[in-house]
Amino acid sequence: MENTSTPTHCPYCALQCGMTVTPLPQGGAEVSERPDFPVNRGALCGKGRTAAQVLSPAVRLTTPLVRSGGRLVEAGWGEALDLIAERLGRTRQEHGADALGVFGGGGLTNEKAYALGKFARVVLGTSQIDYNGRFCMSSAAAAGTKAFGLDRGLPFPLEDVPRTGCVILVGSNLAETMPPSLRFFTELRENGGTLIVVDPRRTRTAEQADLHLAPRPGTDLALALGLLHLVVAEGRTDEGFVRERTTGWEEARAGAMAHWPEYVERITGVSVPELRQAVRMFCEPESAMVLTARGPEQQAKGTDTVGAWINLCLATGRAGRPLSGYGCLTGQGNGQGGREHGQKADQLPGYRKLDDPAARRHVAGVWGVDPDSLPGPGRSAYELLDALGTDIRALLLMGSNPVVSAPRATHVEERLRSLDFLAVADVVLSETAELADVVLPVTQWAEETGTTTSLEGRVLLRRRAVAPPPGVRSDLFVLHELAGRLGVEKGFPTDAEEVFGELRRASAGGPADYSGITYRRLAEENGVFWPCPETPEVPEVPDPGGRDGPEGLGEPGVPQDPARPAGAAVHPGTPRLFLDRFATADGRARFVAVAHRAAAEEPDGVYPLLLTTGRVVAQYQSGAQTRRVAELNAAAPGPFVELHPRLAARLGAAEGDRLAVVSRRGRAVAPARITTAIRPDTVFMPFHWPGEGRANNLTNPALDPTSRMPEFKSCAVRVEVLGPEE
Ligand code: SF4
Repeated sequence: MENTSTPTHCPYCALQCGMTVTPLPQGGAEVSERPDFPVNRGALCGKGRTAAQVLSPAVRLTTPLVRSGGRLVEAGWGEALDLIAERLGRTRQEHGADALGVFGGGGLTNEKAYALGKFARVVLGTSQIDYNGRFCMSSAAAAGTKAFGLDRGLPFPLEDVPRTGCVILVGSNLAETMPPSLRFFTELRENGGTLIVVDPRRTRTAEQADLHLAPRPGTDLALALGLLHLVVAEGRTDEGFVRERTTGWEEARAGAMAHWPEYVERITGVSVPELRQAVRMFCEPESAMVLTARGPEQQAKGTDTVGAWINLCLATGRAGRPLSGYGCLTGQGNGQGGREHGQKADQLPGYRKLDDPAARRHVAGVWGVDPDSLPGPGRSAYELLDALGTDIRALLLMGSNPVVSAPRATHVEERLRSLDFLAVADVVLSETAELADVVLPVTQWAEETGTTTSLEGRVLLRRRAVAPPPGVRSDLFVLHELAGRLGVEKGFPTDAEEVFGELRRASAGGPADYSGITYRRLAEENGVFWPCPETPEVPEVPDPGGRDGPEGLGEPGVPQDPARPAGAAVHPGTPRLFLDRFATADGRARFVAVAHRAAAEEPDGVYPLLLTTGRVVAQYQSGAQTRRVAELNAAAPGPFVELHPRLAARLGAAEGDRLAVVSRRGRAVAPARITTAIRPDTVFMPFHWPGEGRANNLTNPALDPTSRMPEFKSCAVRVEVLGPEE
């Protein structure tokens, strides 16, 4: 196997592009195109194309490290695992199970996320587990669940995008974050559809738009309400759809009618004619979509903001119908699967709720434990990090780098340093791993088999393509060994397919039902969309939202699994959700009554500007992997502060000058990049770097009351000019 090319998927973003990995005779591996995967059809961005470089022992961890005399020194696996088990056990004995924290990541495979959640609850007995996906998609997940009864980022495949009439893309710079996806939007426009981009910056994505709306950061909620106001005022409401397929319209309508266009223009800076044009473009075609990303979601009112965009879809009948709907463009590689299988503070596998007695009984049955032994919901990600060193004394962290990616990062770093004990399992020595007492070197994407779930809700098989370096073990091995040392001998297999088999049973009957999905099917079908329950019988009526789909959306018929008896059918998976009914108890979607409110922190005399943060094309998230790739570093060597020429003139700043951006939480220093692509009242910083340019020194950890997502996208700052670069 390891001398040949292997079809697999990219380690980075949620598009999960198909790629081929081939080991090289001289060592290492190369990535090449894989045209058979329908989402990217062979196209890769620079991050994916260079992903094999992070497999090199020159940049990744190859041996466990243990802190001794203040330094991390090489150690054996037995010594490192013994130390972790001893310290976790001692902390639990002295301070109780909830003094143990577990922090996961949206890049972990489904199997790892599942095993980590089970490890926390069954082996450690702690409620204190959450993951970095809380920082990415949780507001969209909360809003989708409220409105539709189910959160699957996209309720339709991306291939539907070119065939709809209009897409409003809210707070997504997909031309930089997932470039191969741009073709769906280019094809949309080639087919006569239109693209509206909502973003405070004129990004590469906004440059593709037919209409670019540039609201002030933190005002997307008001913008959506203003559009809904105009929909009603112009008689564009789909009364039949609202009557037959929704509830709660009167309250939502009343909320929107309080946001008249001139008021919304004052709040957002988007003019009334632009608002009217957007409504016309969205409502005139037969079908349309709204897709959100981190812009509207990473706000202290993110759930309401996404809810307002969903209201717009529901009021116009653009949901639960072919080629129409609301979707979230999930960011992290397994951001979708990572939020379904139990590493979230309030959740059990299959997207079950931890406080649901029936869910606890089902999952406890699969795990062979007493339901009453399972802890209840714990703290959300930022709250968990904030409790380190006080309530939480020891932390096990897998696949996350909060020193760079968490809000108010200086404080989070202090909290991590104040722990009695920190163990980190990672591929590279990240800035967070540098603080650890024990670091475990673990396998990564091309060195292991496992599943991820893409932003489309398509479960995919990542295959092992190369052998890992000799000193490296898998995360599943780590959990197996620690469980054994802590007295749980069974239930933590090291084989990913075996873990997936248990995950299938744990998810059976839940909202995210994977029970009908097997590794074999994933390999043969290029992925399967959940929900996909196990069906022993041929279904009498094909699922109208399933693979057979509505007329004009058909795909090949119900597939046969050769592992099953002749004639027995398998569930085809569900590419399109909600076409017949929404996943609520009565099958109707729920409007939410929302109103505009200010950001948690607004500019004032001391901090007169807004900061918004985001990503660049050549780096991924905290940069822990991509900052180790020379080509990517050459393209994006460090942070910068983007500001408008008028603001630069007012400050006396020239291109390249060192600027200090200062908020109530700290300061970050980076060179000026002057551009008319940003509003004069706003500065932008990418967040991929540690050190003096760490943008998250500045960001506000104010949390959304429902999703507990921090407000990364808007905070008040001032800018000081430090002078030319030395
Ligand atoms: S778009 Fe995302 S999944 Fe595709 S190659 Fe780039 S980083 Fe990888």
